[in-house]
Parts: sequence; C-alpha cells; structure tokens
Amino acid sequence: MKATPIYLDYNATTPCDPRVVEAMLPYFTQHFGNAASADHVYGWQSREAVTDARLQVAELIGASPKQIIFTSGATESINLALKGLAENSPGGHIISCQTEHKAVLDTLTYLEMRGCDVTLLEVDTDGALSPAALEAAIRPNTIAIALMYANNETGVIHPVPEFAAIARRHDIPFLCDATQAVGKIPVNVTSDGPDLMAFSAHKIYGPKGIGALYIRSKRQLLQPLLHGGAHEGGLRSGTLNTPGIIGFGKAAELCQAELSDEQQRLGMLRDQLEAALLGQLPGVVINGKGSRLPQVSNVLLPHPDVEHLLLSLSAHLAVSRGSACANLVQQPSHVLKAMGLSVEQAAQAVRISLGRFTTATEVQQAAQRLVQAIATPVV
Ligand SMILES: *Cc1c(COP(=O)(O)O)cnc(C)c1O
Repeated sequence: MKATPIYLDYNATTPCDPRVVEAMLPYFTQHFGNAASADHVYGWQSREAVTDARLQVAELIGASPKQIIFTSGATESINLALKGLAENSPGGHIISCQTEHKAVLDTLTYLEMRGCDVTLLEVDTDGALSPAALEAAIRPNTIAIALMYANNETGVIHPVPEFAAIARRHDIPFLCDATQAVGKIPVNVTSDGPDLMAFSAHKIYGPKGIGALYIRSKRQLLQPLLHGGAHEGGLRSGTLNTPGIIGFGKAAELCQAELSDEQQRLGMLRDQLEAALLGQLPGVVINGKGSRLPQVSNVLLPHPDVEHLLLSLSAHLAVSRGSACANLVQQPSHVLKAMGLSVEQAAQAVRISLGRFTTATEVQQAAQRLVQAIATPVV
C-alpha cells in the first residue's frame, strides 16, 4: 500500500475530526429540515440544533450566541464586515496592515476602487506591528481598523487588546481576522476587545464552507452582502447550512476542551522540529520570532530551489511555500517581503504547520526528509 505523505500544512486547512463528521451525518439525511421552517418538527429540530451549535461556537470565543452570524467562511465574514462598514460611510479611511491575509487585502483593494482611502501599516523584521503606529495613522475620517490576531504564514501574534483599546478610544470599529488564532490559543472577545471578529470552521477541524462573524453590538453599522429572507438577523440571507453549522459547533466544543493540552503539545513538537533543522542545516533561519502561535514554523531553507525541493519530497511530505491562497498566483510571500526579506529569501521560505493528528514520529521524519534532501541537493 502506498503511504500517504506526512501532512504538515494545517494552517492551510485541517482534516475534519471524525467526531465532527459523526455529529454532522444525521443532519444530511434524517434531520434535513430547513431551520427557518416554523410549522413542523423537521424545521424545529434543525433550528434547535443550530441554536446549540451557535452556543458552542460563541463559547469558544467568550461571546454570546446572539453575537454570532454564520457565513460561508472567514473570507465572507471579512467581506461582510469591511464592505458592510464602508457602504455606510462612503469614501472613508480604513487602516490595516501589510501582512494581512488576502481576504482582507483584496477586499481593501476593491474598496479603494470604490473611493475608500486605505493605509497599510508596516511591520518590523519580526512581523510585529506597534500600537503607536496604529494610533498615529488614525484620521478624523477613519471608519474601520482591520488587523489580524495571528498571521497565517508566520504565526506572529498581534497585541489585539492594545489595538482594541486604541480603536475604542477613537470610537472606530475594529475588525480582527482571528481565523488562525481561534481554537489554537485562548481567544476571548471580552478581554481582547474587537468589535468584529472573523473565523472559520475548516481551520479548527470542522468542515469547509462555514464560518462566523462575531459582532459585538450595533448591527445597524453593517450593510449585508446578501439579501433575501433576512436570515441571521438580516445580515446574511440564505438557508442555513445546518450540517456545516453543527460540525462547526462540534469542532468548537472539541477545540475548547483540548486547547490547553494541544497548545503545549504542539509547541513542544514545533520546537523539536526547529531544533532539528537548525542543528543539522547551517543557514536555516526562523522567520517571525517573538510571540507566535504554537503550531507553525516559517523557515528559510538553505536551498536554491525550494519549489523543486518540495516537489521532490511530495510523495513523503506536504508542507507549503507561503499561504495556500498566495500559491495560486505564484508570487513571493507579501508577508515575508513586508518583514524585510528579499524576493529571493522569501522564495526560500517554507511554512510547516502542525495539528491535532501530528505525531512526534511524523515531526522527526519530516525533519529528516528535509535535512537529507537539502544535504544532498537534486541536480
Ligand atoms: C484561512 C484564512 C482565511 C480565509 O478563511 P476561509 O474560511 O477559507 O475563507 C482568512 N484569514 C486567515 C488568517 C486565514 O488563515
């Protein structure tokens, strides 16, 4: 039997936890009702299950269920938040950062074409963004601040509570893309303080195509993207994705229960991986030191053609260059370039991200594969 490659690209997406799939299955065939059907038991059952799942998702981030809007994923949540705010204040100024995910950056490019003014803050060589720089960029017409919780390529964690305090002091809505942080490290909307927060099920062992937008209050500040039926408090029309929502809820419950153990376990494995690479390969550099997510390592490998290297290892190892989204358009990572790496250096970087099903043996084998392949380069 052909062995499957070791999967170390959990930041791109995670497999569904089998317990999540089990929870979802009855909602395809048996409890298939439309959660908006008010006149029969099929609808009532779905609605009740959605209510339970909404609570599970809310509890993972310390929110109340009425603050959770279900969407198709973090990309949609971000679009809803940014376009929803911009539509209410045409021509406004929005502050974000050069290292954000494309879901934020591309939405901002679109809003710029629609007349908004966008400031993208710079980061230092560790990927850190200073709260002082945020405060200095605020203008009288700033209508939104969008800064991520943790970076998908490097794992660098931003000081979200400090950003939120600044936003609050200036009365500017603050959207936090917490897609990589939720479920991996403790995230709490009360102590972290964002007004809006986007996250996604498929990064936390739930299904693809379901996500959420947390909205603290003042829903009237947002215009919906989708009209028709006024589901989700009028902010996201369309029949609810009941199986997806149930899976998201189960995934959230499991993450909450296992978070502190997993955080510790994955941090240790990541440190072992980095120690193995640093110890055996002169020239390895870890990108994004400082406060980081426990499960990800962005490493610059001493190899002239990393694309070819990963291809040659693809039967054994699944890691990625940069983010999955950026890879579709084959450009050097905008995140690493913002951190001061040259195009050539950025092209040598590999993101290795661990997860729930990663074992110590897999990490050792992965390090060995990389070390061997780099020590004996393919011509
Ligand atoms: C994966 C990811 C997204 C996009 O999430 P989808 O649910 O796939 O739309 C947005 N931001 C970050 C930081 C991510 O890692």
